[in-house]
Amino acid sequence: MKKNVPFTLEQAKEWRTRFGTPFYVYDEKAIRNAVKSLQKAFSWNRGFTECFAVKATPTPAIIRLLASLGCGTDCASISEVVMSRACGLDGRKMMFTSNETSFKAYRTAVAAKAIINLDDITQIEVLERSCGIPDTVCLRYNPGSFSMTSQIMGNQKDTKFGMTYDQLIKAYVTLQEKGVKHFGIHCMAASCCLDDGYYPKLANMLFKIVVELRKLGINIEIVDLGGGIGIPYRPSEKPVDIHAIGEGVRMEYESILAPQGIKVAIYTELGRWITGPAGYLVASVHGRKDTYKRYVGLDASACDLMRPAMYGAYHHMTVLGKENEEPAGNFDVVGGLCENNDKFAIDRALPRTNYGDIIVIHDAGAHGRSMGYNYNGLPRCGELLLTENGQVKLIRRSESLDDLFATFDVDEDFNYQI
Ligand SMILES: *Cc1c(COP(=O)(O)O)cnc(C)c1O
Repeated sequence: MKKNVPFTLEQAKEWRTRFGTPFYVYDEKAIRNAVKSLQKAFSWNRGFTECFAVKATPTPAIIRLLASLGCGTDCASISEVVMSRACGLDGRKMMFTSNETSFKAYRTAVAAKAIINLDDITQIEVLERSCGIPDTVCLRYNPGSFSMTSQIMGNQKDTKFGMTYDQLIKAYVTLQEKGVKHFGIHCMAASCCLDDGYYPKLANMLFKIVVELRKLGINIEIVDLGGGIGIPYRPSEKPVDIHAIGEGVRMEYESILAPQGIKVAIYTELGRWITGPAGYLVASVHGRKDTYKRYVGLDASACDLMRPAMYGAYHHMTVLGKENEEPAGNFDVVGGLCENNDKFAIDRALPRTNYGDIIVIHDAGAHGRSMGYNYNGLPRCGELLLTENGQVKLIRRSESLDDLFATFDVDEDFNYQI
């Protein structure tokens, strides 16, 4: 699919003058459209809820926008729970899916009335000791083998998440004895999966477990399919058909649950699929260098977007205003960190670039700025929202030296004004 940029070179230059590069910009219209098409695909299911994975884009303006569209959140840490609450989400729309969880994190999540999604059978005791067991609990299943796993999650047997089938059944029985009234089941067996068959296959597996549990007198009310639907990072890849995915899940529902008279609410926890394609990292060309290879240097670095350095992930790039120019060769596109993996692309065909050209890095809206870090003491960049009416809003400023130094214990002699 051809990758377009929803703003012009003139706009980007104006934003650079106002805010400086690098920055992230999110396209509100694209986020709204994604949520609407997901909700439409599952509109057959009463109670369907998208609990957006906060870790993908933990920015209040984005969480509020999603909440206004009827989404909840999936949280994995205290700060994600606190942020969700501050964005107006109430308990039923918040999942808390953590692992190696502290007492304090359970206490915070239970106080916020989030639905606790237990990662392991031993966590029943931890939860009980931390704050008591709430009347709604979800359990995370790890099926061991699941044939559609993709590269990032790898084989389910090698993933640290979730519990085995036997542990799962035992955990439900134990929790029911302890007075739990409402149950959910959760499984996430893929990451960035572009196969329309993934959710239907996962639903088939989970719905069958729901039927088995019914025989034991345990009523599952929520089936949470997790996240993991992919986006086409490469122009050669095909986007998923969200309508076909919703229909595929519906067919499993009608063939497995409906005959038993069982009704469940489907939850999804998409992150990447909702905000990934809607976010762009915008950077300026800072330097050029021809040694044993040819380089284009940016003012952004892996501190702003780590995925290429961390997983060798592909992110498409557009040199704004030069969309129709022929490539001038293959270039490594790099940031300024003292780390040789600080490369946004290796051997990427790009047109000739000059100092000050603006490069847009696509599909950076999820797991982008949120994975950022401060190596070499670099402040992380800010975020803009391109609203539906074409205005741009600063929704998070870039970090300053004051931010970076705020946690040090320094005395008055430490005067860092130059
Ligand atoms: C990361 C994560 C998600 C979101 O994954 P995406 O690939 O962004 O869809 C959802 N649920 C859980 C439990 C996760 O850890």
